[in-house]
Amino acid sequence: CDRALLAARSIKGQYGKYFAAYDDKLRDELLRQQAIIDEMETALKEEQFLIYLQPKYRIRDDKLAGAEALVRWNHPKWGFQSPAEFIPLFEKNGFITKLDQFVWDKTCSYLREWEEKGYPPLPASVNVSRADIYNADIADILMNTVEKYGLPPSRLHLEITESAYTENPGQIIETVSHLRNLGFIIEMDDFGSGYSSLNMLNQMPIDILKLDMKFIQSETVKPANQGVLRFIMELARWMHLSVVAEGVETREQLDRLLETGCDYVQGYYFARPMPERDFEKLIREQQSDEEQEQQREETDR
Ligand code: C2E
Ligand code: MG
Ligand code: MG
Ligand code: MG
Repeated sequence: CDRALLAARSIKGQYGKYFAAYDDKLRDELLRQQAIIDEMETALKEEQFLIYLQPKYRIRDDKLAGAEALVRWNHPKWGFQSPAEFIPLFEKNGFITKLDQFVWDKTCSYLREWEEKGYPPLPASVNVSRADIYNADIADILMNTVEKYGLPPSRLHLEITESAYTENPGQIIETVSHLRNLGFIIEMDDFGSGYSSLNMLNQMPIDILKLDMKFIQSETVKPANQGVLRFIMELARWMHLSVVAEGVETREQLDRLLETGCDYVQGYYFARPMPERDFEKLIREQQSDEEQEQQREETDR
């Protein structure tokens, strides 16, 4: 906390008392950031971090097609904290590497558990931070993780945010090609949020485009927006990529996606991120639906 206070004081010294109100806000913010950082190691040790799973559905047949693992921090005093706040802090100070390892482990342990229960194999997507993807050992780390749980790498989808690709495209092309050769599935997360060029996309060895929410959440549905969506889907088909739309909240948004030929959807319209036991219920429901379908087909024959 001292460091944050010193930083806040030095800013105050520079700009004087006229900025006192702004200064207080800034100081509070710095104190809060420092408090988060002070708590993170304990949080990991005491298992305050939880994994929530958000279902992903295949549009073609409405089937559950996988899950995205999203970290949650349930702090004993502060309650649930937003990843949008703490992830960027952990990326800056490097703690994200430890946290992501925890998330990957936990996610693989769920996949393993479901396999042992005899459920049909589903893939899970994990987020790979920009700090992880530029780590020279990333392929070994991920490979060791899946092997520890006896899973093929193809069960793990790696979501790498679009802006991470542009930091050092040469290096990332190499890493991602290697990961793909090992069998991992690569998703470009937040596609279209503002960084990638079509040229870069063309060179990136990826499997899946994950459309940024802003494409479907734009308030006014202009014909031009629908045109952009259509263009992206067409481009993806040419490049043999599947497309996932995230942040689908309404029936209307789903209809727009149906029109353009999107492959997978994820969003509050279908389900919020949920604890593993709730997700497992969804798997069981789908399994019994499939068994009933099969029985019906058999009696029809
Ligand atoms: P992301 O990977 O793009 O994840 C999608 C975010 O959208 C999640 O926010 C999810 O809860 C939220 N979301 C899902 N459906 C909807 C919807 O219909 N409407 C709206 N408005 N939002 C929806 P969340 O969980 O708060 O995570 C925020 C970001 O934090 C993630 O964005 C990801 O970049 C990062 N993150 C989360 N968990 C991890 C993790 O384990 N490791 C790393 N490195 N980053 C993570
Ligand atoms: Mg993601
Ligand atoms: Mg995203
Ligand atoms: Mg369970």
